[in-house]
Amino acid sequence: MTHRIAVIGAGFAGLSCARVLRRAGFYVDMFESDRVVGGRMGTSRLGVVPFDHGAQYVTGRSDRFRAYLDELVHSGYAANWRPNIAGMGEGNAPNWIVGTPGMSAMVRPLAEGVQVHTNRRVHTLQRNDNAWQIWFDDQTSTGPFAAVAVAVPAPEAALIMGRDVADFSERLSAVRFSPIWALMIRLDEQVLPEYDAYSDMSQVIRWVGRNNVKLGRSSRGEHIVVHASPGWTRETEDAEPEMVAEELWSEVCHVLNLPPVRPKQMSAHLWKHGLVDQPLGETYLFSSEFMVGAAGDWCRGRLAEHAFESGASLGKAMVDALT
Ligand SMILES: Cc1cc2nc3c(=O)[nH]c(=O)nc-3n(C[C@H](O)[C@H](O)[C@H](O)COP(=O)(O)OP(=O)(O)OC[C@H]3O[C@@H](n4cnc5c(N)ncnc54)[C@H](O)[C@@H]3O)c2cc1C
Repeated sequence: MTHRIAVIGAGFAGLSCARVLRRAGFYVDMFESDRVVGGRMGTSRLGVVPFDHGAQYVTGRSDRFRAYLDELVHSGYAANWRPNIAGMGEGNAPNWIVGTPGMSAMVRPLAEGVQVHTNRRVHTLQRNDNAWQIWFDDQTSTGPFAAVAVAVPAPEAALIMGRDVADFSERLSAVRFSPIWALMIRLDEQVLPEYDAYSDMSQVIRWVGRNNVKLGRSSRGEHIVVHASPGWTRETEDAEPEMVAEELWSEVCHVLNLPPVRPKQMSAHLWKHGLVDQPLGETYLFSSEFMVGAAGDWCRGRLAEHAFESGASLGKAMVDALT
């Protein structure tokens, strides 16, 4: 009998796990709380303009992730980006990879052959007769599944898995995240001085980047992404997004000495579990007794590559346990 497996969370980790399971011949159902896939590899819209409001670019260190990035570049889902970065010096442009036409394109090929159910927020897991039942926030449920991979940030995984599922709660609670405010800004004309990106500008600002210089984006006007620092975000986490947008824009104008221009549109988004501060230190969690595991960037680090590796490794452990 072909096993049916559930993957919860359609970010890089969940989707890379799903691909390994699918390629091994399992049926995979994926449940995602958002209306789109990608998680923190997200592409959002301000009016008609797409913005990468989470990850800005990726780099590949492991052979497996580099091979995946090559696959993406060859099939047109990603491209190289060599931005001029303030403070880096002439000729020192990094060689980064970005999704085209948006960062979320980098995860899309992983979903091939997978049943992705969006707008499905998972509440808890229930074990019945050696199989899993999944309960949603709206009090409906689905199942049975032979195995479940939970690929959401550790604090959310702890809620879904509770205390009765395997015994991961202590390890999950040791993982720490910082929230990050992301600001998307749309201007009619170019206002940033000569560089494409500025990092660690002040105590408040962590990143300022021109989104529309990446390949595949609209070149008209100026579309800027700003990320606030973890410290400032923690202090303002409960503030209204409109107020945060005004404060961040005013800080950008101040530190970059910009002329007094009013953005055509701007919008602030809070990544509640944005960047990992304290990772787990293991590539994934898995119990072959209960057939349940957890994966995410938080297992080993704070980058897209860590999420991809964690998900793929959990997928492999599940395949080994089920065959
Ligand atoms: C502002 C910012 C900038 C970044 N910049 C970079 C960068 O430049 N380069 C880089 O490599 N990395 C960067 N990162 C980190 C990178 O985005 C992450 O490491 C990676 O995307 C994490 O993937 P993931 O699958 O582990 O988690 P996520 O992307 O968080 O995916 C988890 C998914 O689970 C879903 N979910 C959560 N709870 C539930 C639930 N109860 N039921 C169903 N679904 C649920 C979420 O909606 C989400 O889609 C950045 C992150 C942020 C926030």
